[in-house]
Amino acid sequence: MRNHDDDFDAIISGGGLVGLTTALALNSAGLNVCVVDALPFETQLAETFDGRSSAIAFANMRMLRALGVADRLSENKGPINQILVSDGRPHDGLRPGGPGPFMLHFDADEFSGDDADEPLGWMVENRHMRMALLAEARDRKGITLIAPVRAQGFDFKETKANITLSDGQVLSAPLIVGAEGRNSPARQAAGIRSHGWGYGQWGVVATVAHEQPHHGIAHEYFLPNGPFAILPLPGNRASLVWTETPAAAKYLKTAPEDFFQAELERRFGRFLGELSPAGPRWAYPLTLMVVEKYTAPRLALVGDAAHGMHPIAGQGFNAGIRDAAALADVMAETVRAGLDIADPIALERYEQWRRFDNTALLAATEGFVRLFSNDIAPIRLLRGLGMAAVDKIGPARRFFAREAGGGVGALPNLLQGELP
Ligand SMILES: Cc1cc2nc3c(=O)[nH]c(=O)nc-3n(C[C@H](O)[C@H](O)[C@H](O)COP(=O)(O)OP(=O)(O)OC[C@H]3O[C@@H](n4cnc5c(N)ncnc54)[C@H](O)[C@@H]3O)c2cc1C
Repeated sequence: MRNHDDDFDAIISGGGLVGLTTALALNSAGLNVCVVDALPFETQLAETFDGRSSAIAFANMRMLRALGVADRLSENKGPINQILVSDGRPHDGLRPGGPGPFMLHFDADEFSGDDADEPLGWMVENRHMRMALLAEARDRKGITLIAPVRAQGFDFKETKANITLSDGQVLSAPLIVGAEGRNSPARQAAGIRSHGWGYGQWGVVATVAHEQPHHGIAHEYFLPNGPFAILPLPGNRASLVWTETPAAAKYLKTAPEDFFQAELERRFGRFLGELSPAGPRWAYPLTLMVVEKYTAPRLALVGDAAHGMHPIAGQGFNAGIRDAAALADVMAETVRAGLDIADPIALERYEQWRRFDNTALLAATEGFVRLFSNDIAPIRLLRGLGMAAVDKIGPARRFFAREAGGGVGALPNLLQGELP
């Protein structure tokens, strides 16, 4: 088997959504990168592979624009103009199901200054995002894609890191980026420990066609078993994330169509007219994961390899995009200064930058899940009062909207729409 000899500045282990985004960001910072993934890329593009759609924060779409990905998404991305949050209720035989009176209302029209023309975010089906990222990566000179091969051995030496692939190849580079998701073998090989727990909830994901236009309005409402999100896709379609107990979710995934339709209508309500579920359904266990460190000698972790969060606020991929942007900024400076790409001070800077942001996000997400997956009367009252209070205070509401949009804090260049 051929051994590559330090051809690459960085090897990205894992070519999922975050791995590919990181490859583009690092390449834009002038690095020659290689991406390895365990699955054939064509498998990952199949309609049956990943039914999820992602809400992409507006600042992150700026970055995807700068990387040449947003243009490739063209009409496959749809704006989120408003988000309505409420306590919902399933149809109980007397009252219709659907959203309750809105308690919190975010509107892109309230943005001002540089963000004035931005929607709150964009909805993109994951398969379209994968296609756009992959097409851009395939067109870039300094990106090599290798799949299907599993990264199965890591050796972090003083001057370089080696990665052994399942086909026997050994690749070397000054830096390895672990982007293999929650069970990252690179993280494990570096001895970085992770901690986490399950929520006892699963997310049922499905796409629904509806009669009336949604006008780019996302709804999130809270039912006794957890949040129910209706996210506007291009056309008269919505992506659902419907949180349930594990047993109910497993049943709903394969339940007969008329049963699924009836249960859906009880929760969704009729405010968008006739509903027709479109395509297969998926069910994902919802868990939280934190890791002790984001870096080790010659290793940086990005995306779900570094943090796993509940999708209640749609922030997992967004956090990974911000990891990629920060790593690209740090690497660009390191290259400009003529330092080793895996310079420990540079890796420490990345660690500090992203650990702070992601820890705050994980804590906020955790609080939301606990508060909104609870049907105890005093807690329902408390969350109603809390949401009503935020809704009444314009600056607080605008702050939350910009925070969710990724437009606050120390932004890396790519998140400002500029190259690193
Ligand atoms: C129901 C649901 C809804 C969500 N909605 C949103 C949303 O609206 N917005 C949002 O921002 N986020 C959302 N998320 C979170 C988001 O989907 C994840 O954070 C994101 O997909 C993580 O991407 P990743 O590339 O880090 O990891 P993964 O998607 O897990 O990709 C890891 C990649 O590594 C590869 N790999 C694994 N092991 C190896 C190995 N040994 N060698 C080589 N390759 C390997 C895999 O084949 C895969 O391609 C949602 C999540 C769920 C469950």
